Amino acid sequence: MPDLDAFSLQGKCALVTGASRGIGGAIAAGLVAAGATVFGLSRSGVAPQGVTAIACDLADDAAIGRAFDCVAKTTGRLDVLVNAAGISLPAGATDELQRFRATLATDLTAVYATILAAYPLLKQTGGGSIINVTSINSVRGFPGNPGYVAAKAGLAGLTRALAGDCARDGIRVNALAPGYVATDMTAGSYADPAMHEDRRRHTMLGRWGQPDDLVGAAIFLASPASAYVTGQELFVDGGWTAKGLAISTDGTS
Ligand code: NAP
Repeated sequence: MPDLDAFSLQGKCALVTGASRGIGGAIAAGLVAAGATVFGLSRSGVAPQGVTAIACDLADDAAIGRAFDCVAKTTGRLDVLVNAAGISLPAGATDELQRFRATLATDLTAVYATILAAYPLLKQTGGGSIINVTSINSVRGFPGNPGYVAAKAGLAGLTRALAGDCARDGIRVNALAPGYVATDMTAGSYADPAMHEDRRRHTMLGRWGQPDDLVGAAIFLASPASAYVTGQELFVDGGWTAKGLAISTDGTS
């Protein structure tokens, strides 16, 4: 008989970065619904109902350290770390090299800084689950945003590297890779009829994702239900990366 209690996060403590809105916000709320005590980190210090907000800029290593001190003092444990904070800078926002560096700083280097800061508490708790939010950009060469593509491919690599390094402490490390999801980050392409349709047609399921589409997979990776899963990248992309021909949802191509 399957043990459905294995999907429960009752008694667990989680911290989600990028919890003020979008995918991180939905995951933070979902982990609360699954029973966890959840801290939500962002610059704005906003968090969904039931999530304890921590205002922190991931560019500030000392502030990241203080965030985990706060978790340690409040709950004395950390079972789950979800790295969902991220940026995608529009072309022309800064010069190309600055844009590349800024994107890597937030989407890759800050994730590693967060994992290093969380590690002692995860280890002291006796194991846990780290979930890095990557993207279909980790395996596809999207145009016009090399920093974002490089950061997400790097984060997929970091996930595999750390899965090996963390296993000895009973800590699993996996990546969760969304397709196009309707959030502030994608508001421009969502609102543009041609871009909206282009992204819709790239999926097998014939629709954009919503932040809540990521929640079930996040709970699975966070919980003991995925106890034998590490070093993996789980694509929640409506079939985008698996798709061959441009098949429509009624089966015609
Ligand atoms: P979003 O709506 O723009 O939210 C981004 C989150 O990151 C916000 O909570 C933001 O909070 C936080 N954040 C950004 N920079 C930060 C910093 N320096 N320090 C602390 N927090 C910071 O984006 P989203 O679409 O939900 O994206 C969430 C994750 O999914 C990102 O890693 C993104 O790359 C990935 N993703 C998104 C899509 C998509 O289609 N939307 C697809 C694939 C992957 P504050 O502004 O309050 O700091």
